[in-house]
Amino acid sequence: MIVSRFAPSPTGFLHLGNARTAIFSYLFARHHGGKFILRVEDTDRERSTREFEDMLLEDLKWLGLEWDEFYRQSERLDLYREYTQKLMESGHAYPCFCTVEELEREREEAERRGVPYRYSGKCRVLAPQELEEYKRLSKPYTIRFKVPDGRLVVFEDLIKGHIAINVDDFGDFVIVRSDGTPTYNFVVVVDDALMGVSHVIRGEDHIPNTPKQILIYEALGFQIPKFAHLPVILGEDRSKLSKRHGAVSVRNYREEGYLPEALFNYLCLLGWSPSGTEREIFSKEELVSLFRLEDVNSSPAVFSKEKLRWMNGVYIREVVSTERLVEEFIPFLERAGFSANKEYVKRVIEKTRDSFETLSEGVERLKVFFVDRVEFSEEAKAVLENEKSRHVLELFLDKASQTDLNAQKVKDIAKEIQRELGLKAKDVWHVLRASLTGQLEGVGVDVICDVMPRDRLIDRIENVLKYF
Ligand code: GLU
Repeated sequence: MIVSRFAPSPTGFLHLGNARTAIFSYLFARHHGGKFILRVEDTDRERSTREFEDMLLEDLKWLGLEWDEFYRQSERLDLYREYTQKLMESGHAYPCFCTVEELEREREEAERRGVPYRYSGKCRVLAPQELEEYKRLSKPYTIRFKVPDGRLVVFEDLIKGHIAINVDDFGDFVIVRSDGTPTYNFVVVVDDALMGVSHVIRGEDHIPNTPKQILIYEALGFQIPKFAHLPVILGEDRSKLSKRHGAVSVRNYREEGYLPEALFNYLCLLGWSPSGTEREIFSKEELVSLFRLEDVNSSPAVFSKEKLRWMNGVYIREVVSTERLVEEFIPFLERAGFSANKEYVKRVIEKTRDSFETLSEGVERLKVFFVDRVEFSEEAKAVLENEKSRHVLELFLDKASQTDLNAQKVKDIAKEIQRELGLKAKDVWHVLRASLTGQLEGVGVDVICDVMPRDRLIDRIENVLKYF
């Protein structure tokens, strides 16, 4: 059975790169009818928090990822202890009593000699008396994995191809810290093996860890899974995508008014595209059926906020249903301080969904439909502050009193006014636009007239006559 997993550490917001890893891992499992596991890697007690975990899960759900099994490493410590014991008994691991200062000295020495640092292996062979003495003194210790000398660890990465790493590049590494908590490279193996993970899909920054993990698989007699390391995501300046590039967490985009469907779709195309098509807009179901690790590019992908924004615009304009858009739009309206009834929002959105690319931009652009009092730009004020405009508006109210109002009716009335006062069509329209929206550009007057109830239209015109 195909089993993949996403294994985030709850030490911050969900980064776009990690979200893409999660998505690829998810699509891979779903494509093969396999299982997708979510495992929270929270053994680093200092950096992990429950708040980050909660937000992580929320963001993953928001993106539309659902998992079949959930684990939290901090709840599995007994299990890791058992496997530490096994490694000790089989001679693959040993306690190391070196102090931080001693290790620091080793490191400095290596630096002075200009060679890469690796642990000297000093505690590999402690005399029994020495061991007794340390135990009697309750001297703190870590547990290290005994790395066999001179091994070349080789694996076939499903994305990166053939990888060979000499274990002499690293020394015996710590698998249990002196506070008793196990480290990543150790627990990731125990978990992936016990959870039956067949494919480890993760960022390429983990390639240097993989040989360490393979050695532990071997030492414990576990079957080694397949590895697929995803290339990094770069910013447009070709450096690794980071906070310097602005918004890089899923939450940032969620709060800016990106739709989860659009972000999901966009992230999929960061380093992957289905062979044989130029298409870019795909539903989740299509992505599940098209996704293949073989089509993942082995070189880095470049994140473009502009492209993501464009794609979000496509989703808003033509992909999601109006109902869906309304459901996403209302919280943004409410956060901006407007209350609105669903039916009304729906009528607004139906006519305007082609005019904005993010929900927050939408609220900014469409707030004119929701405000109690229109705010006037300087240009609009200039248009309204003269006698001619007064005449236009008075005549409008007079004519409007005998009819209902919609775009067509307002156009007819405007034409009559234009004739009666000897004005240009554009001038009349300008006055109406300035009165109803407070702006000389933006949302069309016809849309306003079609969507807003008659009494609110009249009210806006009357207000101009009252205050200008
Ligand atoms: N907790 C690790 C991380 O967030 C997981 C790496 C892995 O997938 O093995 O980078």
